[in-house]
Order: sequence, then structure tokens, then C-alpha cells
Amino acid sequence: MVARTAFFSIIIIGDELLTGSKVDSNSTFISAKLAEIGVDVKTIMTVGDDEKEIIDALGFCVTRSDGVIVSGGLGPTSDDKTKDAICKFVEVNMVEHKEILDDIKQRFSKRGVDMPEPNKEQAYQPEGAILFRNPVGTAYGFEVYKDEKPIIALPGVPAEMKAIMVESVIPSLKEKGFGLSDLHILDAKVVGLAESAVYDAVGPLREWAEKRESICLAYYPHFVDVTVRVKVRGEEEFAEKMFKEAKSILEDILGEKLYGYGEDGLEIVVGKLLRQNGMTISTAESCTGGLVSNRIVSVPGASDYFLGGVVAYSNEAKSNLLGVSEKTLSTFGAVSPETAEEMALGVRKKFASNIAVSTTGIAGPTGGTAEKPVGLVYIGWSYDNELGSKKLMLGEMTRDRVRLYTSQMALDVTRRILSGMSLE
Ligand code: ATP
Ligand code: MG
Repeated sequence: MVARTAFFSIIIIGDELLTGSKVDSNSTFISAKLAEIGVDVKTIMTVGDDEKEIIDALGFCVTRSDGVIVSGGLGPTSDDKTKDAICKFVEVNMVEHKEILDDIKQRFSKRGVDMPEPNKEQAYQPEGAILFRNPVGTAYGFEVYKDEKPIIALPGVPAEMKAIMVESVIPSLKEKGFGLSDLHILDAKVVGLAESAVYDAVGPLREWAEKRESICLAYYPHFVDVTVRVKVRGEEEFAEKMFKEAKSILEDILGEKLYGYGEDGLEIVVGKLLRQNGMTISTAESCTGGLVSNRIVSVPGASDYFLGGVVAYSNEAKSNLLGVSEKTLSTFGAVSPETAEEMALGVRKKFASNIAVSTTGIAGPTGGTAEKPVGLVYIGWSYDNELGSKKLMLGEMTRDRVRLYTSQMALDVTRRILSGMSLE
């Protein structure tokens, strides 16, 4: 029998999230993880560090959903009200856990410091709660029940919340039958097309999906790429067969714009390609100011293939550090295909890497001219005996977006070169 979809609510706690001093990213992560197992989110509420507000929010959410996930306010300081509020709401007391106290003490002693007094409080947990150890911090997560519905509390620190969510909460929800055990997901990652263009392009996949009751599609646009999600309900063998069909349709339609399946971002895909080919890379960056190398080194083990990078912002740095000729700079300007190419060639020579990629452009909002407007960017590369560049016209994007998009395109150029693809 097919289980019914469970509906959860999320309560995000913290004054800083109400004053605009912090953007809530936790609910995005929690809902995405729930969606992967087929649990839908009905409501997301944000409340301040206030016991009554938290209790009211819990009341609202528990009556409307099958379970509630709460994030934030589990720390040891007096502004952390979540545990007390939940205890009042489910009408239990707090009890001290000696083993948690020992665990927290040990964590501090590993860092060579004594446990601060306030952390003692973290050994107190709601009576009867299921505890989730925090692999990266001192605040345990926990689960209690109200009207037979789970209330799961997680720390607010994003890295801690994510670790407990992935390692404990999702497996525990699946075990309790909350997810759809027959749900299978294929995420196809597309780069270089806007969401509407992806939607338009995947018409044949939609036609294929519409003919099958057990299949549905979803689109998740991120600024630098778009995910097309294929959701299949049924036996694993059936899902695999459907994924094979979907992949073949997607590969036909999207070709080289389809850069991978699953969770991996372009920096991971590029890292894998470099490793597979036993190659090294270096970067020369102007308008991205180190963002490309930052993304490359965000992948564990990047030292196997990333040799280094040069941030050359001024013309002097471009000539002194990368060997871009003064003539090139004065004739064509810093934002030109010629400069981008000489930057890539120069950095490749400097580091003796197999491949090099460079960025130079006008990130704005000032500095544009009629001839060279804001958003004009060149990505250069040097590989084998080839030297080349690609022009981007990003228009009136914000400065951060120009930089981020350029970093994505620089990684995409690298992916294409390493995969022997065209650079169009
Ligand atoms: P701590 O032990 O640090 O007090 P906590 O569980 O009490 O942990 P909070 O005090 O709510 O968590 O938040 C800790 C940090 O995590 C703060 O820097 C906060 O800005 C950040 N944070 C909390 N909630 C969110 C959220 N929803 N999205 C992004 N960041 C968050
Ligand atoms: Mg706190």
C-alpha cells in the first residue's frame, strides 16, 4: 500500500532572524531534506527568543501537521528558550544526563580548555526525550511527542543543525515510516540556462512523465544552476528503469549543459575530472577576486590538483605577476580577450599546471562604459597548446552576482575543456 504523504511544520527561532540581521537558511535545508524522503512542509514560522511565542507557534503547528522541526535556541545562554518552551508545551520536566555532561567536558578538554560553567546546562534534556548527539557541537538535538506527533529540536548553528538532520533525524523519520519508502529521486544539474529556458527545453521529459502516474517532476532554480528533479514512486528496479529513460531524454535535450546528477556542485565535478585525468590547475583572477580558487579549495582533497592562484586586480599586478604585456593592456584594456588569455598563460607558466583559467571583467555597479558595459566579462584558459577566451555579457546584475556567475562559468569552461566538449 502506498503511504500517505506526511506534512511537517518548521519553527525557526531567534531574534536575529526577525530583525533582518541574519537570513534564515536553516528552513531551506530542512525542507529540502524532508522533500528528499517525501515529507512535505506545510508551514514555516519564524519566532523570536520568547517562551510564550515559541509555545504559541508549537500549538499552531502541532494541530496542523504530522510533526514539527524546531531550529535554534538550544545553546547554554539565557537567550536560549527553546528547551524550556518545549518542556512546558509537552508538560515534562528536564532531567540531567550524566553521560552528556561527560561528553561535553571531554569535547572541551580535547581543545585544551575547561568546560565553561554555562555549558553544564546542556546536560539537561526533556524527560523521556530521544536524544540526537551533535557531532560538531555541544548542543544535543532531541525529540519529544505531543498528541503522538514528534517535535524535533535542533541547534541553530547551521553546520550543527545540518549534521544532526542528516545523521540522525532523516534516518529516524524514515524508520518511523514518515517518508515515502517507495520514493526515488534523480536530480539532474544544468548549467548555463535560466530556469524558464530549462523548463522550456525539457518539454519532452514532461510529456514522458505525464504519461506515467508514478512519476512527477520538479524544478529548483539556484542562481548559478538549475536542478531538474525526477521523482518516481515504486520498486527500486522500476525506478532504476525510469531513471535510465529520463537520463537518456535529458542527455538528448540538454547535451553538454547537463553537468551531472546528484548533489555535486561544479567545483566537485571539476575536482573529480582533474583527479581522474591526473591533472593540475591554477587560476588567475581579477573580477572574481579569488572566488574561483575559493570554490576549488572548498572541496576536501583539492591539494591533489589545485596548485595555486593569483589575484591580479591592478594592471601592474597583471603584468608584474602574470606577465601580461603592457602593450596588450594599453591596446586592448584589462577587460579584453587578449588580457584574459595572457593571464591564463602567465599563471599556467608560473605554477606549471596542466590547465589554467582566468577571469577579468566589470563587476559594477560603476566602471562601465558604452563600449565596455557593466557585466562584460572574459574568461581565459590555457591548456595543452591551446589558448582561448569566452565572452560573457551579464548585463545589470549586482556586483556579487557578476562575481558568482563568473566563477561558475570559469568552472564550467574548465569542465568542458577536461571533458573534451565544445566551449560554446
Ligand atoms: P548556540 O549554542 O550557538 O547558542 P543555538 O542552538 O542556541 O546555538 P542560536 O543561538 O539560535 O542557536 O544560533 C546560533 C547561531 O546560528 C547564530 O549565529 C545564528 O545567527 C545562527 N542561526 C540560527 N538560526 C539560523 C537560521 N535559521 N539560519 C541561519 N543561521 C542561523
Ligand atoms: Mg543560542
